[in-house]
Amino acid sequence: MQSCVDPHQPSRRNDPRDDPLHRRCMELAIAQAELAATIDEVPVGAVVVHPERGVIAAAHNERELRSDPTAHAEILALARAGQHLGTWRLDRCTVYVTLEPCPMCAGALVNARVAMLVYGADDPKAGACRTLFTIPEDPRLNHRLTIVGGVMADRCAALLKDFFAKKRNRRQPGRPPCGPDPLLNG
Ligand SMILES: [Zn+2]
Repeated sequence: MQSCVDPHQPSRRNDPRDDPLHRRCMELAIAQAELAATIDEVPVGAVVVHPERGVIAAAHNERELRSDPTAHAEILALARAGQHLGTWRLDRCTVYVTLEPCPMCAGALVNARVAMLVYGADDPKAGACRTLFTIPEDPRLNHRLTIVGGVMADRCAALLKDFFAKKRNRRQPGRPPCGPDPLLNG
């Protein structure tokens, strides 16, 4: 039997990023992010998975919709998961999110005692799990999470890139985004 393993590529065997369960759950988080984009919200999606009950919560960013700076996908998903289980303690749950959580959401994951965080794309501007800070792994805090970063990272990042590219294109034709409409003054 022929092997299709490329000896020149570093082995990704047993790489948790390739875990089929992680990928299936990340697909659900991506679907949430896509929903966010359809209502002009920054496309970030999250789901919370319980080992016996499966997906117990799903959410996407709703910051614009709610005029709420805390309405990130993770915060909304954690709140829904707590309601579903009837407890704030989500210590058997895994949170899947398309973008590396910010300091607020990383703090919420610790406070919720979440067991594992699986995220898609790194966030160089606000990532608080690996990139700028390592809040969920900080030994000074009273709870630590297992982290798997980079699951379907390219697709998660492409969603954000496309969203902002479209936004820029919409702003372009003819006149600056602010200031009086020339048609009204003529
Ligand atoms: Zn956040």
